[in-house]
Formats: sequence, C-alpha cells, structure tokens
Amino acid sequence: MGTPQLTGGYLFDIQGFSIHDGPGCRTLIFLKGCPMRCEWCSNPEGIRPFSEPLYNPSKCTMDLLCKEACPYEAITVADQSLLINRDICRTCSTNACMDACFTGAIRKAGYFITMADLFKKIQRDRQYWGANGGITLTGGEPFLQPDFAKAILKKCFESFIHTSVETCGNIPWGNISQSLDWLDWIFFDLKHINPVKHKKATGTTNNNVLKNARVLAEKFPGRLIFRIPLIPGFNDDENSLSELAEFILSTGKEEVNIIPAHHMGREKYNLLGQSYYTKEFKIPSADDLFKASQYFTKAGITCYLGSDTPF
Ligand code: SF4
Ligand code: SF4
Repeated sequence: MGTPQLTGGYLFDIQGFSIHDGPGCRTLIFLKGCPMRCEWCSNPEGIRPFSEPLYNPSKCTMDLLCKEACPYEAITVADQSLLINRDICRTCSTNACMDACFTGAIRKAGYFITMADLFKKIQRDRQYWGANGGITLTGGEPFLQPDFAKAILKKCFESFIHTSVETCGNIPWGNISQSLDWLDWIFFDLKHINPVKHKKATGTTNNNVLKNARVLAEKFPGRLIFRIPLIPGFNDDENSLSELAEFILSTGKEEVNIIPAHHMGREKYNLLGQSYYTKEFKIPSADDLFKASQYFTKAGITCYLGSDTPF
C-alpha cells in the first residue's frame, strides 16, 4: 500500500448504527491492514494493507472482460472460474477489473479516502448518535495506519464527537501513544496469556500486546475495557480464563467484555480465494458465555457478555 499523505488512508468499510462498540449509537470506521492472522477472524478482507478484489464466481458469466481490462495480467482462467493473483493487485491502482465487470462479480475490498471525504461521511451520521454516541475506529488494526488514525480521532475530538478505538495491541507503542490525547475510550483485545498458544492461533507472539496493555492501563486517562473473543478449544478453559483475569487485575483495570466467536466471516474467505482454515468450533452458547464470565466476576472484574453491554 502506498503510504498516504497525512490527508487520508485506507478503509474497507464504514457502518452506521452500531450499538455494540462504545457508548450510544456509533459509526464504525474499518481501517485496512492487520499484523495478526487470527484463525477465527471474521473480517479477512481487512487483513492485507492494500486494496484487493473480492471475486464471487456465482455472479460471474465468464465473459472475461475483467481479464482483458487488467493491465497487469493478474487474472487467469482455471476450471471454469477465475484465479486472481492478489500479490500483483498490491501495486495496482486502476480498479480496471472492477470497472469492466457488469455483473458485480468482482468488487473491491479496501479503498483510499481523504480525511475531508471521510469527515463528510462521519458528519452525515451525527444526527443519529444521540447524546452519548460517536465514532469507533476498528479494522483490521486502526493503529497500523497511525497518522491516519490520529488525524481522524483528533478531528472528531476537536469537533466534540466521542471517540473510541478497538485495537489488537500488537503494534509499536508509538503508534498508539500519538492518538491518546484524542481518545475517550479504548477496547483492547486480549486473546491468550500463553505466548505459544497465542502465536499458534494468531501468527504473532503476545509480548507487545501485554506490554502495551500495561502501559495503556497506566497512562490512558479515558475508559479502557479489555475485550476477549471466546474461542472454544483455544481460550475457554479454566486455566486460560483465570490467567486472563489475573492479567487484567494486574493492570489495575476491572472491566472485561467477552465476545463469542462466530462463523459469519466464512463466505468472505471464498471471495478472497482463501480457505477458511479455522476448525469448525462450536459457537459459544449463552450458558458457555455465562460460565466464562464467572472466572472474571469471581475475581472482582465487571464482565459484559457479547452485545449485552450497558454501553
Ligand atoms: S486489482 Fe488491478 S491488478 Fe488486480 S486484477 Fe484488478 S485490474 Fe488486475
Ligand atoms: S468481468 Fe465480471 S462477469 Fe465477466 S468474467 Fe470478469 S468477473 Fe466474471
């Protein structure tokens, strides 16, 4: 991805009317690019830090207009379908394949947007937020584009818009710290305390995550809520949950939000030409969530379950 000037950055979605990612009604802004590769990720189109095509064979008539239009020969035909070499798309700024397709079989995941255009879209939602709402940066990992994240947060904060971010925490501290003055609220994801299990399931160690969590808990004056995706077979056992509770308490914080993992992102892997490689875990039930919450409440941590949150 070409590094944008300070006037904009790469998104892959904007969604209004969220009531699960911060107080009140919120506009979610999805920044593209993530340093982690979590097996259960439901936004795989947000992982690679550049625009890329999503291809839906069920809408494709195989007229090959996209193949002819592509200036880099990134598209080939195989088994009555198209293969797209997305490593070539990394440097493409033409959108030629999508512009050529009449059926919508190819559409783009990720686009560059200027700060001015983004702020216009943000302002459009303002009337729906109510007294407590605002914006939440998510992704992907928002702080992987630190200057863009800071520019959005600063502009909104100075415009009296409530600002929130959800971060995986696995980025240099400087990427986070430069935005802290413009943030009201942070959701900080914790997946596992065991570094080996963490690396196996997310592709990265948790050294940075735990270090940043501690520093943030100490330095951030706003509200910091740890978030745990509950993944059966990965972190739903007694030992894993107890270690997570112990870590949260050690930071001095006393709130956690447990989110059940789900399979809703599965179809997107097909559109990206990737296999859905996580094992088919059972989606946690309300009972499973409640059971998990007990490890935190018994430790004195206030636990919010799923979207059942008093935000
Ligand atoms: S995004 Fe660009 S390089 Fe990739 S298939 Fe489309 S036109 Fe070709
Ligand atoms: S232009 Fe669209 S419909 Fe035609 S081959 Fe390409 S993806 Fe399929």
